[in-house]
Amino acid sequence: MQDVNPADSDDVLGEVARSNSADVDQAVTAAKAAYAEWAATPMPARGDVIRRVGGLLEREKDSLSQLMTREMGKTLKEARGDVQEGIDFAYFMAGQSRAPVGDTIPSELPRKFSLTMRHPIGIVGLITPWNFPIAIPTWKMWPALLAGNCVVLKAAEDTPLCAQRLVELVSEAGLPAGVVNLVQGTGEEAGAALVAHPDVRAISFTGSLETGKLIAAECGRQMKRYSMELGSKNVTIVMPDADLDLAVEGIAWGAFATSGQRCTATSRVVSLHPEFADALVAKAESYKVGPGSDETVDLAPLINRTQRDRVLEYIRVGKHDDGATLLTGGQVLDEGVLSKGNYIAPTVFTDATPAMRIAQEEIFGPVTTVLPVPDLDAAIAAANSTQYGLSASIYTNDMTAAMRAVTELEFGIVYVNAPTIGAEVQMPFGGMKSTGNGFREAGPHAMDEFSEWKAVSIDFSSRLQKAQFQPGE
Ligand code: NAD
Repeated sequence: MQDVNPADSDDVLGEVARSNSADVDQAVTAAKAAYAEWAATPMPARGDVIRRVGGLLEREKDSLSQLMTREMGKTLKEARGDVQEGIDFAYFMAGQSRAPVGDTIPSELPRKFSLTMRHPIGIVGLITPWNFPIAIPTWKMWPALLAGNCVVLKAAEDTPLCAQRLVELVSEAGLPAGVVNLVQGTGEEAGAALVAHPDVRAISFTGSLETGKLIAAECGRQMKRYSMELGSKNVTIVMPDADLDLAVEGIAWGAFATSGQRCTATSRVVSLHPEFADALVAKAESYKVGPGSDETVDLAPLINRTQRDRVLEYIRVGKHDDGATLLTGGQVLDEGVLSKGNYIAPTVFTDATPAMRIAQEEIFGPVTTVLPVPDLDAAIAAANSTQYGLSASIYTNDMTAAMRAVTELEFGIVYVNAPTIGAEVQMPFGGMKSTGNGFREAGPHAMDEFSEWKAVSIDFSSRLQKAQFQPGE
């Protein structure tokens, strides 16, 4: 498979192997061979390896960020942030390796001691998208390893070299062979083979809702555990009392960072502020568009031509089928240095209503849609009116409005006076409704995705004791 720079179609990074089901089987066999020893390794020793990978990621931060910008397209600043997330989470998880695990729980019977402990799941398949080529694999890998699992990572088709470099660093840190395995290739071939493999006991997936449904169905059929981090239609509410400059700056960042290709991108703005839409247009029109390797650029290219065309189709739908008003952008940018990349101008629609497709479906491009509403009740109803529920925010200085948003928005992540993007690794990350199936990544809860709870009771009374029975019964 060809690995091409999204900013320059002439720049081919390399040809990457297209793994098939036999390769997946080989990776799973290697993981099985390594499992018993890794599962028996004390958790602090597992944490030590993860800490060492964190150090290697720090050492390689610049080179990895350069590679990421060339392979995935995002600006260098954002690529450095992506690698930094992997570093931060390595250190967080290494710290967790010495934190308490489980509870001691009083027993109703004398001389009986009860506790809970975590148990690894076994061989876990990790399937990841291209938009955070280092951060997302590390969000899955560190807790999976800390819990004592062996993993097979199926990297995204568009970012194979970032995944390869990450796995090389894991190996350099001293992880035993077979504990982490990498397969490349397509979702339909390598990804589906990993999901279907009978020895893979769990799948951790981040990607689109459509793919998530296919994977969930197969996992359900085989009674495997699966965790889903899927798409979203994130939203920011702008109240009339909001600090307008702050709101515009935050919403532009939320909508256009990574060219809108973030699962937390601000793709809707529910506005009660009469000046907001014009102010956002002025901000969008000030953006410098170009290759991510240029440190002065604000908006970098989309990942590939297919994605660019998908976004263009949504812009057509917004204008013609939905009948929203296009305020700025909406066109391909292909002059000069932009001619070899996949660029779309930052785009703002207004006069949208909640039922419109551009207000319901994930676009994954530099497009945001303003929905004017009359009051806070209507704002919260509009915000909650999609099937997704990952990230929402509100700009206001009114405590009542802020607290109503915090409590009434059906989203897994809620910000006040901040954009919908910008997760920190020590906080749980995940969404409600169709965005996921209840698990959270990052934070200490990340271990729940990758371990079973075991309830242990130790009876040292030397007689048969029966719970729920009266003495003598
Ligand atoms: P995608 O679903 O097309 O692909 C994701 C991964 O799944 C890739 O590695 C792909 O090869 C694999 N895949 C595809 N078909 C498969 C199949 N049948 N069986 C097994 N694996 C298969 O998604 P994408 O375009 O790479 O990423 C964009 C999507 O990811 C967006 O919807 C975005 O919102 C979502 N995303 C969600 C989060 C989150 O945490 N909620 C984070 C980032 C991205």
